[in-house]
Amino acid sequence: MQILLVEDDLSLAEGLQQALEHEGFVVNHVTHGKGAIHVVETEPPDILILDLGLPDIDGLDVLANLRKSRNETQIMLLTARDSLQDKVSGLDQGADDYLAKPFEMSELLARLRVLERRISTSISNTITIQNISLDTNSLNVSINDQAIDLSRREYMLLKVLMQNAGRIMTRDRLESQLYNWGDEVSSNAVEVHIHHLRKKLPPEFIKTVRGVGYKVDSQKSS
Ligand code: CA
Repeated sequence: MQILLVEDDLSLAEGLQQALEHEGFVVNHVTHGKGAIHVVETEPPDILILDLGLPDIDGLDVLANLRKSRNETQIMLLTARDSLQDKVSGLDQGADDYLAKPFEMSELLARLRVLERRISTSISNTITIQNISLDTNSLNVSINDQAIDLSRREYMLLKVLMQNAGRIMTRDRLESQLYNWGDEVSSNAVEVHIHHLRKKLPPEFIKTVRGVGYKVDSQKSS
């Protein structure tokens, strides 16, 4: 999952970025509203975490602008304003959720998991396909209930493939789900992680779609 964090409080932003990356999200950060609109229009994230009090334009104007252009990114408002009016107008203008500062990280994470479930085809925090289960809450992956060890990026890669089971994921899309703007990425990074991941999973679980990308087959629950 790729998150764009729009927050002008740099120490808060840094703390959030670290905590969210630790949970397996890819996080890019901007401080201004206009920059946020530009990024969402050109390179839409899965989830936008949007502060309301920004240096240039109000977060509510960012929200209104994106919804007017029918952008469907999930939007979580983050704000020091705790008035009912702000909350109501934020939700009325198309925000998906709203969290008042100060907040507990655990609450933000739980709410992000709700947004994630809306985006993915899964209705719970555990995605199970064939004999493989991935828990987006505990970050555990198991095969036949036996936990396996994955690196952070292997976990992120498997998660995005399983959340999009049945869909072909291009290399570019996978790369944007693994790395943020500041990361140096080698041209075959996705292939390398796929290679390592495949050694830990049943053969053929991750399918190559030649010249396009990769996919995991969806499986109707029996
Ligand atoms: Ca602010």
